[in-house]
Amino acid sequence: MILVYVETSAEGIQEVSLETVTFARTLSEAGNGVPIDAVVVGPAPNDLSTELASYGVRNVHHASGDDFDLFSGAATASAVIAARQVAGSVVVMAGGTNRGNEVVARVATRLDVPMAANVVSFHGLSPFVVTRQVVGGAALEEMRLGKRPAVFSVAGHAVEPVPAETPGAGSIVPLAVDLAPEDLLGRVTSVEGADTDDADSLKSARVVVGAGRGAGGPDGFGDVIELAELLGGTLGVSRVVTSLGWRPHHEQVGQTGSRISPEVYIPCGISGAIQHWAGCASSKVILAINTDAEAPMMTKATYAVVGDMHEVVPAINEEIRRRRG
Ligand SMILES: Cc1cc2nc3c(=O)[nH]c(=O)nc-3n(C[C@H](O)[C@H](O)[C@H](O)COP(=O)(O)OP(=O)(O)OC[C@H]3O[C@@H](n4cnc5c(N)ncnc54)[C@H](O)[C@@H]3O)c2cc1C
Repeated sequence: MILVYVETSAEGIQEVSLETVTFARTLSEAGNGVPIDAVVVGPAPNDLSTELASYGVRNVHHASGDDFDLFSGAATASAVIAARQVAGSVVVMAGGTNRGNEVVARVATRLDVPMAANVVSFHGLSPFVVTRQVVGGAALEEMRLGKRPAVFSVAGHAVEPVPAETPGAGSIVPLAVDLAPEDLLGRVTSVEGADTDDADSLKSARVVVGAGRGAGGPDGFGDVIELAELLGGTLGVSRVVTSLGWRPHHEQVGQTGSRISPEVYIPCGISGAIQHWAGCASSKVILAINTDAEAPMMTKATYAVVGDMHEVVPAINEEIRRRRG
């Protein structure tokens, strides 16, 4: 049995969890149709059962109650271990988010088994061998998980989320969890932050226009925002930009921001540091604009324009407007 820790929010099931269930189906097929169960901890969206059923999930083990209303890594790990005992899983997986990685790391530690973070593919169940991203996605390494259960997280965008050809039952099974007092020593007490719709629209955008330090200051984004609007896309920025307070954090692309996979990414005045590249490497086409022809983003891009973004971008905007009449 394969058990997937599924993350939810008020808006529904996180995209990365649907990717992880899709990934789990590949394992299931390799294991002659071994069933996939999910474990959900805390408040759940109304369509939880229907949506997970459409991705091929058999049972959804749901831990709810006051102790699970806000996230605690230790309490969530206890719920995952309880679900594993009920379901008898030989594989435990989560999406490679901060929380997903924390939870599976805690699960592996408590079960005294190895864990692989940010897996992108697997090569066999016995021995259980996976390939995973390291150094912020700049390198891949193969890893063998030599003890059961195999515990790992799946890197964001490793697979597209695709519903199953044959749906599962998606039956909700209430999960009883015996929490120890120490499970609740570290827990979230309140959450405030960006509008998740904004971050989600960046992750799913077909065109992203990026801007980095080269924008020059908080007033330097007018042209890139206009280009994004002309192309029906959205703005994404580097961490320097958010750290300096020029733009909000939900616009950040990278290891500690959003991972994007648009049809076209146009990074302007962004050097392409490894941590930024980790978030944009899945872009289908990259058109980089930078004054430095040797910047890593320029050498990795599909197309590179050497020039000042404050001259090149307005010229592109003007040409688009001219062609559209
Ligand atoms: C743990 C950790 C996590 C991180 N996470 C992230 C992350 O999620 N996302 C992220 O982006 N970074 C992240 N970083 C930071 C990352 O290492 C870089 O510092 C950052 O990406 C650099 O941003 P930048 O490219 O805008 O700035 P710089 O590296 O300073 O590059 C600016 C670029 O703009 C060019 N330029 C300057 N003026 C112009 C102009 N007028 N026209 C055109 N080009 C111009 C320059 O040639 C240069 O290439 C992280 C770092 C750490 C340590």
